[in-house]
Amino acid sequence: MKYKKIINDKEVIFILYNVIEVRIPKKIYNSLKQTDEEIITFCPYKNIYNAITKRRLYYITEESQIPLIGHTAFGIIDRGTNLIQVRPCTGCNLNCIFCSVDEGKSKTRVTDYMVDLEYLVNEFEKVADFKRKHCKDVTIEAHIDGQGEPFIYPYIEKLIKKLHDKADIVSVQTNGTLLTKDMVRRLEGYLDRINLSINSMDENMAKLLAGVNTYDLKHVLDVAEEIAVSQIDLLLAPVWVPGYNDEDIRKIVEFGKKIGAGKKWKGFGIQKYVKYKFGRKPKNVRVMNFKAFYRKLYEIGEEYNEELRLYPKDFGIIKCKSLPKKFRVGEKLKLKIEMHGRLKNEMLAIARDRIIQITDTNKKVGDIVNVKIIRNKHNIYVAEEI
Ligand code: SF4
Repeated sequence: MKYKKIINDKEVIFILYNVIEVRIPKKIYNSLKQTDEEIITFCPYKNIYNAITKRRLYYITEESQIPLIGHTAFGIIDRGTNLIQVRPCTGCNLNCIFCSVDEGKSKTRVTDYMVDLEYLVNEFEKVADFKRKHCKDVTIEAHIDGQGEPFIYPYIEKLIKKLHDKADIVSVQTNGTLLTKDMVRRLEGYLDRINLSINSMDENMAKLLAGVNTYDLKHVLDVAEEIAVSQIDLLLAPVWVPGYNDEDIRKIVEFGKKIGAGKKWKGFGIQKYVKYKFGRKPKNVRVMNFKAFYRKLYEIGEEYNEELRLYPKDFGIIKCKSLPKKFRVGEKLKLKIEMHGRLKNEMLAIARDRIIQITDTNKKVGDIVNVKIIRNKHNIYVAEEI
Protein backbone atom coordinates (compact mmCIF):
# COMPACT_ATOMS: atom_id res chain seq x y z
CA MET A 1 0.00 0.00 0.00
CA LYS A 2 1.35 3.46 -0.92
CA TYR A 3 0.40 6.91 0.26
CA LYS A 4 1.80 10.41 -0.12
CA LYS A 5 2.43 13.08 2.48
CA ILE A 6 4.03 16.52 2.34
CA ILE A 7 6.81 16.85 4.87
CA ASN A 8 8.88 20.05 5.01
CA ASP A 9 7.44 21.07 1.61
CA LYS A 10 8.68 17.83 0.06
CA GLU A 11 6.46 15.12 -1.24
CA VAL A 12 7.39 11.84 0.37
CA ILE A 13 6.14 8.44 -0.67
CA PHE A 14 5.34 6.06 2.14
CA ILE A 15 5.07 2.40 1.38
CA LEU A 16 3.27 0.38 3.99
CA TYR A 17 4.30 -3.20 3.72
CA ASN A 18 2.47 -4.75 6.66
CA VAL A 19 4.37 -3.34 9.60
CA ILE A 20 7.17 -1.75 7.62
CA GLU A 21 6.88 1.89 6.65
CA VAL A 22 9.43 2.90 4.04
CA ARG A 23 10.00 6.60 3.46
CA ILE A 24 11.59 7.40 0.13
CA PRO A 25 11.74 10.81 -1.62
CA LYS A 26 9.49 10.73 -4.71
CA LYS A 27 12.31 11.40 -7.17
CA ILE A 28 14.22 8.39 -5.97
CA TYR A 29 11.11 6.23 -5.74
CA ASN A 30 10.18 6.95 -9.36
CA SER A 31 13.63 6.02 -10.59
CA LEU A 32 13.51 2.62 -8.92
CA LYS A 33 12.67 -0.40 -10.97
CA GLN A 34 12.09 -2.85 -8.16
CA THR A 35 8.82 -3.98 -6.65
CA ASP A 36 7.90 -2.67 -3.20
CA GLU A 37 9.15 -5.84 -1.56
CA GLU A 38 12.51 -5.60 -3.30
CA ILE A 39 12.84 -1.96 -2.35
CA ILE A 40 12.61 -2.88 1.30
CA THR A 41 15.42 -5.33 0.86
CA PHE A 42 17.73 -3.62 -1.59
CA CYS A 43 17.02 0.08 -1.99
CA PRO A 44 19.94 1.99 -0.50
CA TYR A 45 17.98 5.25 -0.17
CA LYS A 46 15.49 4.50 2.50
CA ASN A 47 14.35 5.39 5.94
CA ILE A 48 12.39 2.55 7.43
CA TYR A 49 10.07 2.80 10.39
CA ASN A 50 8.01 0.30 12.28
CA ALA A 51 4.44 1.28 11.39
CA ILE A 52 3.15 -0.04 14.73
CA THR A 53 5.65 1.47 17.15
CA LYS A 54 6.75 4.38 14.86
CA ARG A 55 10.35 3.72 15.85
CA ARG A 56 13.35 3.66 13.53
CA LEU A 57 13.64 0.16 12.07
CA TYR A 58 16.68 -1.69 10.80
CA TYR A 59 15.77 -4.29 8.20
CA ILE A 60 18.65 -6.75 8.45
CA THR A 61 19.61 -8.68 5.35
CA GLU A 62 22.51 -11.00 4.62
CA GLU A 63 24.00 -8.28 2.36
CA SER A 64 24.12 -5.91 5.32
CA GLN A 65 26.72 -8.20 6.94
CA ILE A 66 25.10 -7.57 10.30
CA PRO A 67 25.51 -10.79 12.30
CA LEU A 68 22.48 -12.43 13.86
CA ILE A 69 24.24 -13.56 17.01
CA GLY A 70 25.22 -11.31 19.89
CA HIS A 71 22.08 -9.35 20.77
CA THR A 72 18.95 -10.35 22.69
CA ALA A 73 16.56 -8.29 20.56
CA PHE A 74 16.94 -10.01 17.18
CA GLY A 75 18.48 -12.97 15.42
CA ILE A 76 19.40 -16.24 17.04
CA ILE A 77 20.03 -17.01 20.72
CA ASP A 78 21.81 -20.20 21.76
CA ARG A 79 21.67 -20.80 25.50
CA GLY A 80 23.57 -24.09 25.36
CA THR A 81 20.57 -26.40 24.94
CA ASN A 82 18.74 -28.10 22.10
CA LEU A 83 16.26 -25.19 22.00
CA ILE A 84 17.35 -22.36 19.72
CA GLN A 85 15.54 -19.05 20.08
CA VAL A 86 14.62 -17.35 16.82
CA ARG A 87 13.85 -13.64 17.06
CA PRO A 88 12.59 -12.20 13.78
CA CYS A 89 11.67 -8.72 14.99
CA THR A 90 11.03 -6.33 17.84
CA GLY A 91 7.87 -4.28 18.40
CA CYS A 92 4.47 -5.11 19.81
CA ASN A 93 0.86 -4.19 19.16
CA LEU A 94 0.08 -4.34 22.91
CA ASN A 95 1.38 -2.25 25.74
CA CYS A 96 1.20 -4.59 28.74
CA ILE A 97 1.57 -2.79 32.04
CA PHE A 98 4.00 -5.47 33.25
CA CYS A 99 6.03 -5.87 30.04
CA SER A 100 9.58 -6.91 30.87
CA VAL A 101 10.93 -5.25 27.72
CA ASP A 102 8.75 -2.10 27.85
CA GLU A 103 7.23 -2.85 24.44
CA GLY A 104 4.43 -1.08 22.57
CA LYS A 105 4.45 2.60 23.49
CA SER A 106 7.88 2.53 25.00
CA LYS A 107 9.73 5.07 27.10
CA THR A 108 13.01 3.21 26.87
CA ARG A 109 13.15 1.40 23.49
CA VAL A 110 14.12 3.68 20.62
CA THR A 111 15.01 1.27 17.80
CA ASP A 112 13.36 -1.77 16.20
CA TYR A 113 14.98 -4.54 14.18
CA MET A 114 13.57 -6.94 11.63
CA VAL A 115 15.53 -9.76 10.07
CA ASP A 116 15.16 -10.88 6.47
CA LEU A 117 13.43 -14.25 6.25
CA GLU A 118 16.02 -16.17 4.22
CA TYR A 119 18.90 -14.79 6.25
CA LEU A 120 17.25 -15.80 9.54
CA VAL A 121 16.45 -19.32 8.35
CA ASN A 122 19.96 -19.84 6.93
CA GLU A 123 21.62 -18.70 10.14
CA PHE A 124 19.27 -20.90 12.18
CA GLU A 125 20.27 -23.86 10.04
CA LYS A 126 23.96 -23.22 10.72
CA VAL A 127 23.39 -23.26 14.49
CA ALA A 128 21.15 -26.35 14.25
CA ASP A 129 23.84 -28.14 12.18
CA PHE A 130 26.45 -27.24 14.79
CA LYS A 131 24.25 -28.74 17.53
CA ARG A 132 23.57 -31.89 15.54
CA LYS A 133 27.28 -32.34 14.93
CA HIS A 134 28.13 -32.06 18.61
CA CYS A 135 25.10 -33.69 20.29
CA LYS A 136 24.24 -37.09 18.88
CA ASP A 137 20.59 -37.71 17.95
CA VAL A 138 19.55 -34.38 19.42
CA THR A 139 16.01 -33.07 18.89
CA ILE A 140 16.28 -29.46 17.76
CA GLU A 141 13.52 -27.05 18.73
CA ALA A 142 13.17 -23.70 16.97
CA HIS A 143 11.40 -21.42 19.42
CA ILE A 144 10.19 -18.16 17.88
CA ASP A 145 9.90 -15.43 20.48
CA GLY A 146 11.33 -11.99 20.92
CA GLN A 147 11.30 -8.63 22.54
CA GLY A 148 7.82 -8.05 21.17
CA GLU A 149 5.08 -9.93 19.33
CA PRO A 150 6.38 -12.36 16.65
CA PHE A 151 3.13 -12.23 14.67
CA ILE A 152 3.80 -8.64 13.63
CA TYR A 153 6.60 -10.12 11.49
CA PRO A 154 5.23 -9.89 7.93
CA TYR A 155 6.69 -13.28 6.98
CA ILE A 156 5.76 -15.20 10.14
CA GLU A 157 3.87 -17.97 8.36
CA LYS A 158 6.70 -18.47 5.88
CA LEU A 159 9.20 -18.45 8.74
CA ILE A 160 7.30 -21.19 10.60
CA LYS A 161 7.01 -23.29 7.46
CA LYS A 162 10.68 -22.93 6.57
CA LEU A 163 11.82 -23.68 10.12
CA HIS A 164 9.69 -26.82 10.02
CA ASP A 165 12.09 -28.12 7.34
CA LYS A 166 15.15 -27.37 9.47
CA ALA A 167 14.06 -28.21 13.04
CA ASP A 168 12.39 -31.19 14.72
CA ILE A 169 10.01 -29.00 16.73
CA VAL A 170 8.77 -25.49 15.97
CA SER A 171 7.10 -23.46 18.73
CA VAL A 172 6.08 -19.82 19.02
CA GLN A 173 5.27 -17.36 21.79
CA THR A 174 2.39 -14.96 21.07
CA ASN A 175 -0.20 -12.69 22.63
CA GLY A 176 -2.69 -14.20 20.16
CA THR A 177 -4.30 -10.94 19.06
CA LEU A 178 -3.03 -11.16 15.47
CA LEU A 179 -3.72 -14.87 15.07
CA THR A 180 -6.89 -15.98 13.35
CA LYS A 181 -8.64 -19.33 13.24
CA ASP A 182 -7.71 -19.65 9.55
CA MET A 183 -4.09 -18.98 10.32
CA VAL A 184 -4.11 -21.68 13.00
CA ARG A 185 -5.41 -24.15 10.42
CA ARG A 186 -2.84 -23.04 7.84
CA LEU A 187 -0.06 -23.66 10.34
CA GLU A 188 -1.19 -27.19 11.17
CA GLY A 189 1.49 -29.67 10.22
CA TYR A 190 4.22 -27.01 10.47
CA LEU A 191 3.88 -25.61 13.96
CA ASP A 192 4.07 -27.91 16.98
CA ARG A 193 3.20 -25.64 19.90
CA ILE A 194 1.81 -22.17 20.57
CA ASN A 195 2.61 -20.56 23.91
CA LEU A 196 -0.30 -18.17 24.25
CA SER A 197 -0.35 -15.39 26.81
CA ILE A 198 -3.78 -14.92 28.31
CA ASN A 199 -3.49 -12.91 31.49
CA SER A 200 -7.08 -12.58 32.62
CA MET A 201 -10.49 -14.10 31.95
CA ASP A 202 -12.16 -10.81 32.76
CA GLU A 203 -12.54 -8.39 29.86
CA ASN A 204 -11.77 -5.24 31.83
CA MET A 205 -8.79 -6.71 33.67
CA ALA A 206 -7.48 -8.16 30.38
CA LYS A 207 -7.64 -4.70 28.76
CA LEU A 208 -6.01 -3.08 31.78
CA LEU A 209 -3.15 -5.60 31.77
CA ALA A 210 -2.71 -5.36 27.97
CA GLY A 211 -2.48 -1.58 28.27
CA VAL A 212 -4.70 -1.03 25.22
CA ASN A 213 -8.45 -0.51 25.10
CA THR A 214 -8.73 -2.39 21.84
CA TYR A 215 -7.58 -5.69 23.37
CA ASP A 216 -10.20 -8.26 22.37
CA LEU A 217 -10.27 -11.03 24.97
CA LYS A 218 -13.03 -12.93 23.20
CA HIS A 219 -10.96 -13.11 20.02
CA VAL A 220 -7.95 -14.49 21.92
CA LEU A 221 -10.13 -17.07 23.74
CA ASP A 222 -11.67 -18.14 20.41
CA VAL A 223 -8.19 -18.56 18.93
CA ALA A 224 -7.17 -20.59 22.00
CA GLU A 225 -10.10 -22.94 21.46
CA GLU A 226 -9.21 -23.34 17.80
CA ILE A 227 -5.61 -24.21 18.66
CA ALA A 228 -6.77 -26.71 21.26
CA VAL A 229 -8.84 -28.63 18.70
CA SER A 230 -6.14 -28.41 16.01
CA GLN A 231 -3.01 -30.56 15.71
CA ILE A 232 -1.02 -27.75 17.32
CA ASP A 233 -0.34 -28.00 21.04
CA LEU A 234 -1.59 -25.15 23.22
CA LEU A 235 0.25 -23.85 26.25
CA LEU A 236 -1.45 -21.05 28.18
CA ALA A 237 1.19 -18.72 29.55
CA PRO A 238 -0.23 -15.98 31.78
CA VAL A 239 2.01 -13.61 33.68
CA TRP A 240 0.85 -13.58 37.29
CA VAL A 241 0.92 -9.96 38.42
CA PRO A 242 0.13 -10.06 42.17
CA GLY A 243 -2.55 -7.56 43.15
CA TYR A 244 -4.01 -7.64 39.62
CA ASN A 245 -4.85 -11.05 38.24
CA ASP A 246 -4.64 -13.26 41.38
CA GLU A 247 -8.25 -14.37 40.88
CA ASP A 248 -7.65 -15.17 37.21
CA ILE A 249 -4.97 -17.83 37.54
CA ARG A 250 -7.44 -20.52 38.65
CA LYS A 251 -9.92 -19.42 35.97
CA ILE A 252 -7.25 -19.69 33.27
CA VAL A 253 -6.38 -23.20 34.46
CA GLU A 254 -10.10 -24.13 34.41
CA PHE A 255 -10.47 -22.69 30.90
CA GLY A 256 -7.36 -24.50 29.64
CA LYS A 257 -8.50 -27.81 31.07
CA LYS A 258 -11.96 -27.35 29.60
CA ILE A 259 -10.72 -26.69 26.05
CA GLY A 260 -7.90 -29.25 26.16
CA ALA A 261 -4.68 -27.26 26.45
CA GLY A 262 -1.54 -29.38 26.50
CA LYS A 263 -1.97 -32.44 24.32
CA LYS A 264 1.69 -33.43 24.02
CA TRP A 265 3.39 -31.03 26.39
CA LYS A 266 2.14 -29.31 29.51
CA GLY A 267 -0.84 -27.03 29.03
CA PHE A 268 0.20 -24.25 31.38
CA GLY A 269 3.28 -22.11 31.74
CA ILE A 270 2.38 -19.60 34.45
CA GLN A 271 5.07 -16.94 34.69
CA LYS A 272 6.04 -14.86 37.67
CA TYR A 273 6.05 -11.09 37.27
CA VAL A 274 9.63 -9.91 37.64
CA LYS A 275 10.64 -6.28 38.06
CA TYR A 276 13.29 -5.49 35.43
CA LYS A 277 15.43 -2.37 35.30
CA PHE A 278 14.15 -1.42 31.84
CA GLY A 279 10.76 -3.15 32.13
CA ARG A 280 7.39 -1.75 33.21
CA LYS A 281 6.46 -1.61 36.85
CA PRO A 282 2.71 -1.59 37.55
CA LYS A 283 1.55 0.44 40.55
CA ASN A 284 0.92 -1.39 43.82
CA VAL A 285 2.19 -4.72 42.56
CA ARG A 286 3.23 -7.05 45.36
CA VAL A 287 6.17 -8.91 43.86
CA MET A 288 6.32 -12.56 44.98
CA ASN A 289 9.59 -14.30 45.60
CA PHE A 290 10.26 -17.49 43.65
CA LYS A 291 9.77 -19.72 46.71
CA ALA A 292 6.28 -18.30 47.38
CA PHE A 293 5.46 -18.41 43.66
CA TYR A 294 6.32 -22.10 43.29
CA ARG A 295 4.49 -22.92 46.55
CA LYS A 296 1.35 -21.24 45.21
CA LEU A 297 1.66 -23.00 41.86
CA TYR A 298 1.94 -26.27 43.73
CA GLU A 299 -1.18 -25.50 45.82
CA ILE A 300 -3.27 -24.44 42.82
CA GLY A 301 -1.99 -27.43 40.84
CA GLU A 302 -3.14 -29.76 43.62
CA GLU A 303 -6.68 -28.34 43.36
CA TYR A 304 -6.80 -29.14 39.65
CA ASN A 305 -4.69 -32.27 39.62
CA GLU A 306 -2.10 -30.50 37.42
CA GLU A 307 1.62 -29.98 37.99
CA LEU A 308 1.87 -26.26 37.28
CA ARG A 309 5.55 -25.98 38.14
CA LEU A 310 7.63 -26.31 35.00
CA TYR A 311 10.99 -27.96 34.50
CA PRO A 312 13.18 -28.08 31.36
CA LYS A 313 12.52 -31.84 31.06
CA ASP A 314 8.79 -31.10 30.56
CA PHE A 315 9.70 -29.70 27.14
CA GLY A 316 12.51 -32.11 26.37
CA ILE A 317 15.12 -29.38 26.84
CA ILE A 318 18.58 -30.83 27.34
CA LYS A 319 22.06 -29.35 27.48
CA CYS A 320 23.78 -29.26 24.11
CA LYS A 321 27.13 -27.69 23.23
CA SER A 322 27.05 -23.92 22.75
CA LEU A 323 28.56 -22.05 19.86
CA PRO A 324 32.10 -21.01 20.77
CA LYS A 325 32.42 -17.62 22.41
CA LYS A 326 34.24 -14.98 20.38
CA PHE A 327 35.24 -12.62 23.19
CA ARG A 328 36.16 -13.05 26.83
CA VAL A 329 34.96 -10.84 29.66
CA GLY A 330 37.55 -8.12 30.29
CA GLU A 331 38.85 -8.19 26.70
CA LYS A 332 39.63 -4.73 25.35
CA LEU A 333 38.71 -3.82 21.80
CA LYS A 334 38.70 -0.88 19.42
CA LEU A 335 35.36 -0.89 17.59
CA LYS A 336 33.50 1.15 15.01
CA ILE A 337 29.92 2.03 15.89
CA GLU A 338 27.68 0.63 13.16
CA MET A 339 24.08 1.00 14.35
CA HIS A 340 21.77 2.52 16.89
CA GLY A 341 21.04 0.34 19.90
CA ARG A 342 17.69 -0.69 21.26
CA LEU A 343 17.89 1.69 24.22
CA LYS A 344 18.82 5.35 24.41
CA ASN A 345 22.59 5.74 24.89
CA GLU A 346 23.19 2.27 23.50
CA MET A 347 24.98 1.66 20.19
CA LEU A 348 25.94 -1.50 18.32
CA ALA A 349 29.25 -2.57 16.85
CA ILE A 350 30.24 -5.63 14.85
CA ALA A 351 33.32 -7.79 15.23
CA ARG A 352 34.24 -11.46 14.65
CA ASP A 353 30.77 -12.15 13.26
CA ARG A 354 29.04 -11.01 16.44
CA ILE A 355 26.98 -7.97 17.47
CA ILE A 356 28.34 -6.11 20.47
CA GLN A 357 26.11 -3.81 22.46
CA ILE A 358 27.88 -0.76 23.85
CA THR A 359 26.04 0.72 26.81
CA ASP A 360 25.99 4.25 28.26
CA THR A 361 27.60 5.91 25.29
CA ASN A 362 26.98 9.17 23.51
CA LYS A 363 29.05 8.15 20.48
CA LYS A 364 27.52 8.24 17.00
CA VAL A 365 27.36 5.84 14.06
CA GLY A 366 30.80 5.84 12.42
CA ASP A 367 32.71 6.80 15.60
CA ILE A 368 35.56 4.62 16.84
CA VAL A 369 35.45 3.59 20.51
CA ASN A 370 37.68 1.78 22.94
CA VAL A 371 35.63 -0.70 24.94
CA LYS A 372 35.89 -3.54 27.41
CA ILE A 373 33.64 -6.61 27.21
CA ILE A 374 31.60 -6.90 30.41
CA ARG A 375 29.26 -9.74 29.44
CA ASN A 376 29.59 -12.72 27.13
CA LYS A 377 27.06 -15.21 28.53
CA HIS A 378 25.28 -17.21 25.79
CA ASN A 379 27.25 -15.32 23.13
CA ILE A 380 25.39 -12.12 24.00
CA TYR A 381 27.96 -9.38 24.15
CA VAL A 382 27.83 -6.21 26.19
CA ALA A 383 30.71 -3.76 26.39
CA GLU A 384 31.38 -0.46 28.08
CA GLU A 385 33.61 2.40 27.00
CA ILE A 386 37.03 2.71 28.60
S1 SF4 B 1 2.42 -8.83 24.50
FE1 SF4 B 1 4.41 -9.34 25.38
S2 SF4 B 1 5.88 -8.03 24.30
FE2 SF4 B 1 3.84 -7.19 23.92
S3 SF4 B 1 3.62 -5.60 25.48
FE3 SF4 B 1 2.68 -7.51 26.24
S4 SF4 B 1 4.31 -8.49 27.45
FE4 SF4 B 1 5.29 -6.94 26.15
